[in-house]
Amino acid sequence: MVNILMFGPPGSGKGTQSVTLAEKYNLLHLSTGDMLRAELAAGTPLGKKMEAIMAAGELVPDDVVIALIAGKIDSTTGKAGFIFDGFPRTVEQAEALQKMLGGKGMKIDLMLVLEVNDAELMERMKKRALVSGRADDADENIINNRIAVYRAKTEPVIDFGRKAGFLRSVDGVGSIDAIFGRLCKEMETVI
Ligand code: ADP
Repeated sequence: MVNILMFGPPGSGKGTQSVTLAEKYNLLHLSTGDMLRAELAAGTPLGKKMEAIMAAGELVPDDVVIALIAGKIDSTTGKAGFIFDGFPRTVEQAEALQKMLGGKGMKIDLMLVLEVNDAELMERMKKRALVSGRADDADENIINNRIAVYRAKTEPVIDFGRKAGFLRSVDGVGSIDAIFGRLCKEMETVI
C-alpha cells in the first residue's frame, strides 16, 4: 500500500489532480473537505456542528478529521493505497496520520506540494466561486482567511515532510495536463 499526501494552498489544484492520480494508480481519494461537506449536506449532527467553522474558513478540530480518515482507512479493500487531499492540515494531524499508518504497517511514502503564487490562487478561487456553490468560496475575506490559516497552521507541515524526507515540490502553474505529468513523474519514484 502506498500513501500519498497531496499538499498545497486553497486553489492550488489538489482536488483536481488527486482525482486523476487516484484513477491512474488505483488509489482511494480521501478529501477531508469533501467528507465534511457530505456531512453538512446530509445534515448530520457533526455536519451541523462544523458548518460555521467551515463557512468562516477556519479549521475544524483535529480529532474530527482524524476520526473521519481512520474510519475510511479501516474500511477500504482492493486499492493500491491512499491519496490524502486537504489532510493533514496541521502538524498534529500529520503526526496522528503517521502513527495511524505505522500501526497498520504502512507509512507516508510521498508528499506532493503544488507551488502556486498568491495572485494566481486568488484568480482561480474567484473563478471557482462562480461554479462551486461553496459558501467559503463566495467571499474574498473568507478566501483571504483560508490562505492566512494555510500559511499559519498548514504550511508548517511542509517542514515536517522535508525533515521526514518524503517532500517533493511540483510547479502547480500551467495546464492541468502538464501539471499532471509532473506529478506522475514523482509518483513513479514510489510506485
Ligand atoms: P480548500 O479548497 O481550501 O483546499 P477543502 O475542500 O480541502 O478546501 O476544505 C474546506 C474546509 O473544510 C476547510 O476550510 C476547513 O474548514 C475544513 N477542513 C477540510 N479538511 C480539514 C482538515 N484536515 N483539518 C481541519 N479542517 C479541515
